Amino acid sequence: MEKRILVVEDEAAIRELVVINLKRAGFQVSEAPDGESALAACREREFDVVLLDITLPGMDGFAVCKALRLQSDTVGIIFLTARTQETDKVGGLKMGADDYVTKPFSPSELVARVEAVCRRVQLAAAAPRETEIESGPFLLSVKSRTLYKNGQLVPLTQVEYQIIEFLMRHHGAAIERSRILNEVWSGQAYTDAKIVDVNIRRLRVKLEDEPSHPVYLQTVWGYGYKWCP
Ligand code: CA
Repeated sequence: MEKRILVVEDEAAIRELVVINLKRAGFQVSEAPDGESALAACREREFDVVLLDITLPGMDGFAVCKALRLQSDTVGIIFLTARTQETDKVGGLKMGADDYVTKPFSPSELVARVEAVCRRVQLAAAAPRETEIESGPFLLSVKSRTLYKNGQLVPLTQVEYQIIEFLMRHHGAAIERSRILNEVWSGQAYTDAKIVDVNIRRLRVKLEDEPSHPVYLQTVWGYGYKWCP
């Protein structure tokens, strides 16, 4: 699957350069000119790697990094730094970044660093995840991609399974419909979040005791859904 990269850089010329080179290398690239819009983009969808300039207007890169780490401990973070002092680099890595690239950088070096962090992120994401999630009367087996309710297998389509796994991993949290859409239908032609609603309705019929009065798969009006065990 295509890796998603977010480029956070306030200088348009550098941002363009980075974006062009990453796209050329086959990455799916989004961009943000400051920290606030970067954090908003990360709430909207998941990225594999965030390339993060340190000197930004408003929040600086270190503060953005800290906030990103609170949102996700698996996202890869690479600082783009113009500062050459060793202390800054060490400070950056301690802040939770995976790597740093000093400006000016060569496009091939940048792409190589991004690829390396993508590999690390992939390994980290594959290794420590729970293989079973227990939630109320439900048991989700990640390995066999199956869901049980009170010990009974609930037959699910692959799409339904993906939605339920995503919601169960974030149990109790309101998840935007667009985020579910990006997570499950990423890279496909569907752009209408109504497909999420259709699948949620089907899931309710399969999971809820009373599908018209959902207890587990709750609607967050005007926003999305949440899983409430
Ligand atoms: Ca800058």
